[in-house]
Amino acid sequence: MRARKPRSEKFEVCVVGGGATGWAAALVAAAAGRETAILAPPADFPLGRTAALFAGAVELLTSLGAMETLAQSAAPLKAMRLIDDTGRLLRAPEVIFWASEIGLEAFGYNIANRRLVETLSGLARDNPRITQFEEPAAELAFGEDEARLTTKSGAHLAADLVLGADGSRSLVRERAGIGMRRSRMAQAALVTTLSVAFDHRNISTEFHKANGPFTLVPMPGENVSLVWVERPVEATRLAELPEDDFVAAAERASHSLLGEMRLTAPRASYPLSVGLADRFAASRAILIGEAAHVFPPIGAQGLNLGLRDVEALQSLLVTHRGRLGQETAEEFHRLRQGDVRSRTLAVDLLNRSLLTGMLPVQALRAVALSAAGGFAPFRRFLMHQGLARSFREI
Ligand SMILES: Cc1cc2nc3c(=O)[nH]c(=O)nc-3n(C[C@H](O)[C@H](O)[C@H](O)COP(=O)(O)OP(=O)(O)OC[C@H]3O[C@@H](n4cnc5c(N)ncnc54)[C@H](O)[C@@H]3O)c2cc1C
Repeated sequence: MRARKPRSEKFEVCVVGGGATGWAAALVAAAAGRETAILAPPADFPLGRTAALFAGAVELLTSLGAMETLAQSAAPLKAMRLIDDTGRLLRAPEVIFWASEIGLEAFGYNIANRRLVETLSGLARDNPRITQFEEPAAELAFGEDEARLTTKSGAHLAADLVLGADGSRSLVRERAGIGMRRSRMAQAALVTTLSVAFDHRNISTEFHKANGPFTLVPMPGENVSLVWVERPVEATRLAELPEDDFVAAAERASHSLLGEMRLTAPRASYPLSVGLADRFAASRAILIGEAAHVFPPIGAQGLNLGLRDVEALQSLLVTHRGRLGQETAEEFHRLRQGDVRSRTLAVDLLNRSLLTGMLPVQALRAVALSAAGGFAPFRRFLMHQGLARSFREI
């Protein structure tokens, strides 16, 4: 990666945003031989945040040369256990999905967000095709022949194609004239990490509670990351409890499944929302990651989907040898439609089925999970479905 020098320069690709999707996209563009800029102001990724990344995302990270480093601090996810802890009249039986049932050693890995971004940006630093500007994009306009960007300090850049990886409040999305249907959920996620007394056996456990899931995801050693979805007021209360009281509450909520717990990172609470951009590309702009789709952490789909955006970009850049521009953006939009829209619907339905007090919906959910528990082919179908790059792949 070149140090930022010029006040004005032309690039083939300019990535806006230095989260995991932004850095991955810069590496993919550079690997396809494109002169690439990335506008990535220093970001502080909280210690307790991790992401469960499945096979497709792991393959992409391997192809970028990141997995070798990441594997040392990631935990393989060998099984997913769902426990109905809603306390309702109609409850589903416990279901456990083992990766080995579909011939895999693990569904994927649980990786700390901070480590992921550090690893990807480290790889970009060694790449002579990537120039980093450590400041945000302040302005963006699309001309006939190129996109023009101005950084916060006033440097001017031009690019054939702009990749908006600038998160849920994306400037790129706004300047490209793309709307986003967004709604705030009546839920927040409390996130932290814990050390536990009993071996987690690399099983991720999701307790489905009346206000959202309480999930313990394996980390290396006797550690887990906790994502506790609750009503916002309750999430704030839990975040502010004295440490001992909080740990006692977490142990109670997990029915002491992993024994005694100890807090190992600060607690943070995130208000949850869902959002879907009206289009995933327009003019010379492509939207990836949360700039295009915002998910609650239910079913661990958000970053997996963001990295699939990057994968789609990778295949586009490999086949498209000429100058990049509006046509490339249109093709990206076409490629990503089915996967993103179907996942949005699936996650929304799953969350609603947990929250609803309606007996018929509870019954349907209980029947579906009973079938998954008792009927191996259906369970295998669901596992393939969860890992597939798109619903059409099944
Ligand atoms: C509690 C929780 C748990 C989750 N768990 C999982 C999980 O297990 N698995 C999973 O797949 N997903 C998970 N997700 C979702 C996942 O965290 C997100 O999908 C992912 O972090 C989004 O990455 P991103 O790169 O798109 O955006 P971000 O990480 O938001 O990065 C955007 C970057 O752009 C920068 N930026 C903003 N504006 C500008 C600008 N004008 N110029 C330049 N830069 C700019 C920001 O500073 C930021 O660094 C979880 C989410 C939550 C809330």
